[in-house]
Amino acid sequence: MSDKFRCIMVTKTEAGARGALGEFAESELMEGDVTVEVSHSTLNYKDGLAVTGAAPVVRKFPLIAGIDFAGRVRSSSDNRFKSGDAVLANGWGMGETHHGGYATRARVKGDWLIPVPDKFSAAEAMAIGTAGYTSMLAVMALEAAGLTPAKGPVLVTGAAGGVGSVAIALLSKLGYRVIASTGRASEEAYLKALGASEIIDRAELNGDARALGKERWAGAVDAVGSKTLANVLSSTSYGGVVAACGLAQGMDLPGFVAPFILRGVTLAGIDSVQCPRPRRLEAWLRLARDLDIGKLTATISRAGLSDVVALAPEILKGQVRGRVVVDVTR
Ligand code: NDP
Repeated sequence: MSDKFRCIMVTKTEAGARGALGEFAESELMEGDVTVEVSHSTLNYKDGLAVTGAAPVVRKFPLIAGIDFAGRVRSSSDNRFKSGDAVLANGWGMGETHHGGYATRARVKGDWLIPVPDKFSAAEAMAIGTAGYTSMLAVMALEAAGLTPAKGPVLVTGAAGGVGSVAIALLSKLGYRVIASTGRASEEAYLKALGASEIIDRAELNGDARALGKERWAGAVDAVGSKTLANVLSSTSYGGVVAACGLAQGMDLPGFVAPFILRGVTLAGIDSVQCPRPRRLEAWLRLARDLDIGKLTATISRAGLSDVVALAPEILKGQVRGRVVVDVTR
């Protein structure tokens, strides 16, 4: 019997790294304690970079793309997992240096796997995906720095994207007044349905920053970086906190130390890829408790594995709304 399965394989071409639909053999998967029958993955910004080759996300060739997946254990030599268990994985170099989730089969270390919370199906877990789990890490960082709804509103930048959409849903359910910054005025109804109270135009935030601006929010989840993050910091109120998790505008941070030394603002860095397992387990438990999954799944788009190559450039252009769930079996 053939051990071949379908996947999105990134290869190095003369034009650079490119992803395409292909086949791979289970016997050639990299080492790991657990083999998973993957049912769902998702489209994250980083997947867009990897599949188009727009940035050097993939560092080993050929490589199966996809930074996350959900599915069921096929076989395991790790005694924490047995055949049939529902599991998910985010990051750890999947889709970068280890074969990833855009395939019906994956083999990874047991340490990378998280049991899918009972409350979620595999498709729902990937409606959350790496973007949503990153939003939860950001919210946890805001809380750890002392943010509460009583301290004032929270800004979410890149609001209509994946990280932004889940952050809005989470923060509003936790009782925060959420201000959503977007470049897509047409998404106002979508953002309000997720729980945003106020929408601002991202153009207000993407020019040169001043050292200090008017205090407008007590906290922020920033998926955009660059000048936007500098402006977000300048307008954070005294003692506030900003969780930096993305670079949709750019990798730079052209700003000032004034918010830190004159207003005691905290800048919290968020990394989902190497985040230690106990914190991941906490984040997924919190997602099961604090996310209105019905609200999120009402807004998702569904795609098959064969749609990923066409969708990848769209997410880089900021044209994908919210979360995309990829059914890898079709
Ligand atoms: P999406 O593409 O879904 O969302 C990004 C959003 O940012 C867009 O929808 C758009 O929102 C906004 N945006 C895009 N381009 C610009 C621009 N030039 N200036 C200002 N805003 C812009 O991506 P994800 O939500 O999946 O990821 C968001 C960011 O977070 C990415 O940079 C990603 O790499 C990073 N990330 C980091 C992780 C970590 O571990 N730290 C994990 C996951 C993601 P709108 O249309 O509303 O303006």
